[in-house]
Parts: sequence; structure tokens; C-alpha cells
Amino acid sequence: MSSTICLGIESTAHTFGIGIVDSSGKILANVIKAFTTEKGGIIPGEAAEHHVEVCDEAIREALGSAGIGIRDVGLVAFSRGPGMGHCLRVGAFAARTLSLHNKIPIIGVNHCISHLEIGRLLTPAKDPVLLYVSGANTQVISFEGGRYRVMGETLDIGVGNFLDVFARHIGIGFPGGPKVEQLASKSSSYVELPYVVKGMDVSFGGLLTNLKQKFDSKKFSREDLCFSLQETAFAMLLEVSERALAHCGKNELLLGGGVACNKRLQEMARVMCEERKAKLFVPDDRKVLVDNGAMIAWTGLLMHKAGMRMGIEETAIRPYERTDDVEVKWR
Ligand code: AMP
Ligand code: MG
Repeated sequence: MSSTICLGIESTAHTFGIGIVDSSGKILANVIKAFTTEKGGIIPGEAAEHHVEVCDEAIREALGSAGIGIRDVGLVAFSRGPGMGHCLRVGAFAARTLSLHNKIPIIGVNHCISHLEIGRLLTPAKDPVLLYVSGANTQVISFEGGRYRVMGETLDIGVGNFLDVFARHIGIGFPGGPKVEQLASKSSSYVELPYVVKGMDVSFGGLLTNLKQKFDSKKFSREDLCFSLQETAFAMLLEVSERALAHCGKNELLLGGGVACNKRLQEMARVMCEERKAKLFVPDDRKVLVDNGAMIAWTGLLMHKAGMRMGIEETAIRPYERTDDVEVKWR
């Protein structure tokens, strides 16, 4: 059989996703079920419970919209890490069950690398530096010396969490990113904020505290604070991305992760790339930027095509897996 259909399962954090992709890279289905809370952050046990509840329905929905049955699936891929143990376990359990019950090969995939691989599939980018900006993760990733390396990253919280926590603090709800973006578009008045870049890394903790204090002082409008937040945080991210491009001698920047949906971030990235004659790539489907199963399925296919195989006993989750722990045989 020359063409393989892969079912990919994503469950590293608040999203349970099932993607179905064929070996030509065609996305046949990409079902996303996101767990959200009104108050507070994600409690791992609650998110995992959500994943258990929606698992069966998500698989049926994905098979239905792809117009296939489980017998047509030739490979099962799942996110093995990094992520929250409770959540990862649900995806891994579902993958093993599908694999054993239907005698389908199984493969565990690194979540961060999948964000990069789906971008390489859906844009003309060949060897990009990835600015991966999501809820929990903020990393600049580049393929160097046979592995995906983290060139820079957040020293504390992910930029998405930073946006979400600030949004909750000022009472605009969850998820915060889109709401902050909306308010920011109504202002162009910059309030001075701490700008924290340390070498190749960024940090958002101090910026978050400063923003909360400014909001609580009642001296600044929500709009001005959201505008200034975006200008500052995104400039920090693009400074380290630009340094990574220069350091790695690359001329393609790819955006991935939920925060990459932000139009202002995209615009700032475009300006930076133009100035250094680099190309910017942003997949235009929101569903492949946020956590999703299609990127897991596609990365699983790449690994499988390169001859990588895993026995069921090798499919343990890896909540703390580092990007450069992963052996890359497909490039
Ligand atoms: P992910 O973890 O990749 O699934 O992405 C979720 C994160 O993306 C959340 O923290 C959201 O607040 C953030 N997000 C989604 N849309 C936007 C947007 N338009 N601007 C900024 N952040 C966003
Ligand atoms: Mg992600």
C-alpha cells in the first residue's frame, strides 16, 4: 500500500484534537475540542476528564468528516509530550486502544516539532526558524546539526498564558489573546512597560506584574494597556527570532501556536522579515496554528515514512520531553 492514512491524537493541554491526514499531506479532518474555564487556569485533572468525555465523539466526528472507517487508517500517531501528564495519558490510552484493537501501527510524536512540521507542509517554507507561541509554550526552534534545537525560549510563563492571565485580571474573560487584540486595536497610545530579553530568552512574569499594577492603579485604560502589552511582548519575541535567524544563517520565519493568530504579531513579524530580506510564513487556517490533531498525524506520517517504528511498550508519555531529545530521521 503506497498511501497511508494517519489518525493523529493531540492531548497535551486544554485541547483534545483528532486529525486525519493522508501521506500526500491532504488534511481529511481536523476536529478540535477545547476545554475552557470561566475562572482560574487549567486544572490538569479537569482537562483530562474533559478529554475522556469527548474522545469517542471526536474520533467518530473525524472519521465521519473524512468519510472513512477505522479500517482505512494505516497509522495512529499521538502527542507523547511535552505536556500535562493527566492530559497526555488520555491521548496515549486512546491511541494504544485504537492500535491494539485494530492492529494498526502506533507512533508517539513531539508536540512542539509538530507545530513546525505542519507549517512546512502548508506553506512553501523549507527550512524555517519557528516562532512557536502558544498558551504554555514560547520557543524559537531551528533545525541544526540533525536535530530541532531550542534557540531561545521563555524563562517563565508562555506568552499565551501571560495574555490569558492579564485578560482575566482585567475582567475580559478567556481565552484572553483575541480579546486583548480587539482592545489593543482601539488604541495607539504607548505606556512604558518593562522589556525583558535575556540573551536569546524572554520573560513575561515581571511584565505581567507591572501591567496588573498599572491596571489596578486605575490611571490607564484597558485599551492603552492592551496596546502597549502587545507592542512590548511581541517586540521581545521578534527580537529573539531575528537573532535566531541571524545566528542560524536562515531566511525563513514561520509562526505557529495560538498566539500566531494575532494580526499585530503577524504584521510586526512581516516588517522585521522585510527589513532583513527574510520571508515570513503563517499558515492561514487558524485550526492548524492552535493545538490540533492534524499536525500530530502529519508528523507521525513523516516519521513512519522515514522508517521509524515503535512497539506498544515504547509508547510511554514524555511530559518533559525536550525538542532536542527527539531523533529526527525524516530530514
Ligand atoms: P494553543 O496553546 O496553541 O492552543 O493556543 C492557545 C493560546 O492562544 C491562548 O493563550 C490564547 O489566548 C492565544 N490566542 C488565540 N488567539 C489569539 C490572538 N488572536 N491573539 C493573541 N493570542 C491568541
Ligand atoms: Mg501547542
